[in-house]
Amino acid sequence: MMNCPVSKKCGGCRYIEMPYADQLKKKQKTAERLLKKYGRVNRIIGMENPEHYRNKVHAAFAFYKGKGIVSGIYEEGTHHVVPVDSCLLEDAKADEIILSVRKLAKAFKIKAYDEDSGYGLLRHVLVRTGHVTGQIMVVLVLGSPVLPSKKNFVNELCKLHPEITTIVLNVNNKRTSMVLGDKQQVLYGKGYIEDRLCGRTFRISPQSFYQVNAVQTEKLYNQAMAYASLSGRETVIDAYCGIGTIGIAVSDRVKRVIGVELNQTAVKDAVVNAKRNGVKNVDIYQNDAGRFMGQLAEAGEKIDVVFMDPPRSGSTEEFMDALLCLQPERIVYISCNLETLARDLEYLTRRTYHVQEMTPVDMFPFTDDIEMVCILKKKMRKIV
Ligand code: SAH
Repeated sequence: MMNCPVSKKCGGCRYIEMPYADQLKKKQKTAERLLKKYGRVNRIIGMENPEHYRNKVHAAFAFYKGKGIVSGIYEEGTHHVVPVDSCLLEDAKADEIILSVRKLAKAFKIKAYDEDSGYGLLRHVLVRTGHVTGQIMVVLVLGSPVLPSKKNFVNELCKLHPEITTIVLNVNNKRTSMVLGDKQQVLYGKGYIEDRLCGRTFRISPQSFYQVNAVQTEKLYNQAMAYASLSGRETVIDAYCGIGTIGIAVSDRVKRVIGVELNQTAVKDAVVNAKRNGVKNVDIYQNDAGRFMGQLAEAGEKIDVVFMDPPRSGSTEEFMDALLCLQPERIVYISCNLETLARDLEYLTRRTYHVQEMTPVDMFPFTDDIEMVCILKKKMRKIV
């Protein structure tokens, strides 16, 4: 059985005391309870080694009298930093790097940012690692733009961890629970990392979304692609496409991919990623997915398959109304929140579509989050 000295305060790994097989059973049950009424729920796809899977690791910094500078996680529901040195879920190398930043901050007399007063400098550190490439990005999030003895700091950090490939300084001076601010400066390397997924290479910038569990992402995408049963002739939509991973992964099995994503940085990454992989039939648009789909519906576009992978809040009626108007043959819905998924399936299945089947994928072992991929098809029309 696992244990962690701060698990009670953190709440990140709710199932830390539960054997992995039991976790999978529990998730299977939850998925069935919430979604069975829409269609068959297949057996959950679990992990072989369910530890240290998180390729994106975030640490908050604070200063406490008597303790000095600390880094770790926010106590559940608060902004009180609980010191953490290593975590069962997180990439181990990323945790080591964060410890080094903490030590260097002490040595360089860099103060931790104080959320209440706005004084101090170091606010968060974000580390992202490329699962296949081994590339590592460190983002130092500061409350103001000037890092004293910047060069030395970067040199020392790289000396301690030669595996770091890029370091970015990000400025966040707002009172917000968002980790990253808008302004940033590359201190070392390219300013992004690359990773390989489904045989393609993807650039990932600090502000772009990337699935946190690369091993399971490949299984998820393979299931999504299988559900889409592509013949090479389809025009497909990759909605909420992030850095373009799904669209680019299916590009050689379809005629054309149209990707839509709201986040500008992710859109830029997606465009570069299509080029980088020599893919010519993928176009990416920066827009709200619902509005964009509405425009496609109005223009009377013919769409064969839609992949949709919305954020936790789920999709919107605007998006789904456009879907109902466009009437693609197949919809592959990927969701990380079963409540909003159920709400959206309710909406779609009341109308033109039915859920053929669903497969849960355990992207987040030790937590109670579940990823789900569903295939929806058009209902057979009754012959009158
Ligand atoms: N399919 C991608 C990203 C999924 S995460 C992948 O597998 O990596 C959801 C994405 O939706 C994020 O990139 C987020 O920026 C984007 N997003 C959030 N709201 C959106 C909206 N209203 N319209 C379009 N994209 C949106």
